[in-house]
Amino acid sequence: MSNKIVVLGGGESGSGAAVLAKVKGCDVFVSDSGPIRPAYKERLDRYGIEYEEGKHTLERILEADEIIKSPGIPDRTTIMQAVLEKEIPVISEIEFAGRYTDAYKICITGSNGKTTTTTLIYYMMGKAGMNVGLAGNVGQSFALQVAEQNFDYYVLELSSFQLEGMYQFKADIAILLNITPDHLDRYDHDYQKYIDAKMRIVRNLSEDEYFIFCSDDDVTIRELEKIVLKAQMLPVSLKQKEDPGGWIEDNLLHMSLKGNDFTLPVTDLALKGKHNLYNSLSAGITGQALRIRKENIREALCTFPGVEHRLEYVLQIRGIHFINDSKATNINSSWYALESMTTPVVWIAGGTDKGNDYSELSELARSKVKALVCLGKDNSKLVASFGDIVPQIVETRSMKDAVAACYHLASPGDTVLLSPACASFDLFQNYEDRGRQFKECVRNL
Ligand code: ADP
Repeated sequence: MSNKIVVLGGGESGSGAAVLAKVKGCDVFVSDSGPIRPAYKERLDRYGIEYEEGKHTLERILEADEIIKSPGIPDRTTIMQAVLEKEIPVISEIEFAGRYTDAYKICITGSNGKTTTTTLIYYMMGKAGMNVGLAGNVGQSFALQVAEQNFDYYVLELSSFQLEGMYQFKADIAILLNITPDHLDRYDHDYQKYIDAKMRIVRNLSEDEYFIFCSDDDVTIRELEKIVLKAQMLPVSLKQKEDPGGWIEDNLLHMSLKGNDFTLPVTDLALKGKHNLYNSLSAGITGQALRIRKENIREALCTFPGVEHRLEYVLQIRGIHFINDSKATNINSSWYALESMTTPVVWIAGGTDKGNDYSELSELARSKVKALVCLGKDNSKLVASFGDIVPQIVETRSMKDAVAACYHLASPGDTVLLSPACASFDLFQNYEDRGRQFKECVRNL
């Protein structure tokens, strides 16, 4: 095993990886091209870990036996180009932490629904009294928890960037929710490269492990046809019966494994909307695979409080409903948000475009959206795409102006929906900041 570890990026993931490396006796150095947040510096100091910020000292980094790269760092950066040229092995924090734990791992990926499904499964396992940690893209770093905690199970949310740096890691239950275009700017605008990264979730699965996937997802099915998988396959579908697996029939959710069929009325589910049926089915069949008692699965699926910024209901003023879906940072998630709307919509969209094709939203926009409020530094693509489709378009450059415009355009009974289909970095710190500003502006109306 290598000894000299360099961690690139000093955020949640990087500082956690550094702690684990240190605890395991490695010589570790953290390097971040930007500032490292005080909480993470404290974490590094507590373990006596050396770090630098605001720069990358190339000579020191290139001495590494192995590099742990944080998911936010693209390969095209100067530092990564140098690392790749020297052929130093690069892994993700998840790969590294996986070496040091025997815990049972439930891993969730997909273009949309990861956080919702991960959190729901974690909630369900909690209801079942299991000793479980929540990690990956949500909550505390996986590596940090491996260093400091002693969980029997982990529920891990995995992004395509994390999956890229994974080689030996093996999930016990792997879940692939869906594959639709996202982050194409990081994949040279090559959709197949992004798909390949997502498909890494099935690496190393043997016949003892479960693979849960959506059989309504054309891309997933096409990719599965290219490979031989030994894992126990558990498809979920809204269109056809999948036994073993999960499906909907007569308004009942079915989750069936080894002849053990468990049903639940769709109307009892806590999460609303068609997309959430996939998430609930995936979580429910996971519960079956984990042999969680039916009462606990049922309770979890029916009482889950949801996750902030995902179709989050804010409040109602003058009969106008306000919904915060700030986490919708790509076309597909906004498609499902619009699809689930049952009233006329005043829609706030825009931000940093990741290579969007808005034509996929034309039909829903035509039938549901009465006004589009663009919120971004550059709204030209939105205006060009929806100019002939939506009766009214307004351009704004701050959340305050956007919310004020919506309030003016909406009538009682309408819904104001923030579901941007874009990243937030042009005007906001991140999607959380965007969602919180939205809620604050709405409350101030
Ligand atoms: P992720 O972690 O993959 O980004 P989230 O659970 O945070 O997913 O949800 C992101 C956005 O996608 C939200 O707008 C949410 O309403 C929407 N969404 C959730 N689940 C799905 C799904 N299965 N398919 C499509 N969109 C979804």
